[in-house]
Amino acid sequence: MFGRKTKAVTPLDGVDVVLADLDGVVYTGPAAIPFAIDSLNRAAESIRVGYITNNASRTDQSVADHLTELGLTVAATDVVTSPQAAVRLLAEQAAPGSSILVVGGDGLVDEVQKAGFVVTRSALDDPAAVIQGFAPEVGWTELAEASFALASDVEGGGIPWIATNTDWTIPVARGIAPGNGTLVSAVHSAVGRLPIVAGKPEIAIFTEAVNRFQARHALFVGDRLDTDILGSNRAGIPSVLVLTGVDKAKHVLAADADSRPTFILGDLRELHEPYPETSFSRDRTTATVAGAAVRIRGNDVEITAEGDGAINLLRAACAIIWASGRPIYGLKVPERLTLWR
Ligand SMILES: [Mg+2]
Repeated sequence: MFGRKTKAVTPLDGVDVVLADLDGVVYTGPAAIPFAIDSLNRAAESIRVGYITNNASRTDQSVADHLTELGLTVAATDVVTSPQAAVRLLAEQAAPGSSILVVGGDGLVDEVQKAGFVVTRSALDDPAAVIQGFAPEVGWTELAEASFALASDVEGGGIPWIATNTDWTIPVARGIAPGNGTLVSAVHSAVGRLPIVAGKPEIAIFTEAVNRFQARHALFVGDRLDTDILGSNRAGIPSVLVLTGVDKAKHVLAADADSRPTFILGDLRELHEPYPETSFSRDRTTATVAGAAVRIRGNDVEITAEGDGAINLLRAACAIIWASGRPIYGLKVPERLTLWR
């Protein structure tokens, strides 16, 4: 390790398509996240950038319009939504032209119709499947129709049930509100079945994006370990966790083996900066990232060298904690690491 000179590479090196989550990555509420717009525009000069959203209430065009207002250059075809991924699953489950019970709004209806299905709102129309996504106007009547249509399970001759996503909550202008997962759960309570799910962390939405952009070396950028990073890992796509959204240092330190990102970034400027390599001491008790070193001794996680930047301390701490195979609750982690930022 010492004296070895390798050219440090950025997270974007070798990447042909960047797939970016929206909330917590590009914007929070109405406002763009600092450095996100410039960094994504700069990436888009040489790499295809696509945007991925679990939110089923907006069409790809309305998402593209919003991102364009924020200063990105985005066409509707650059946006992959969970309704698009859900309709891909639907096409595997129901014959073309068949009638589909849609629980959801315009974004979902639009995609179901574009794929050549007939939309119904009533279980009495003998639908071939139920597809369910969030829309603010979904109420008891729609959930009841879905429940009637899904009364038998698949083994008992019942029809398929596809959900765009199962996010428990949805962020809206006035705060956090129940999301599609909550509404799916209401139907589940009535029928005792579970849907096939298209959105993150399931892989259908990643497959839809990789196919659409013909990605061979995609990189996913997200802010949540339990959807973005878990889903990327399931789909075999390297991932960036950017700490501008939901998950912070304490969460990534505690990430389970299925939900660990390839890269940890403080903000999206670091997409364009060299990402230092991690090295381990021979006894694998110390991890070093660009001079920042963290070791585990007994149950204590200790900073042994500050290095040149706080984010490298967090990266080194993650590396040594993850490599230890030990659960985070058995370790004493300095507050400085858990509160990074
Ligand atoms: Mg997000």
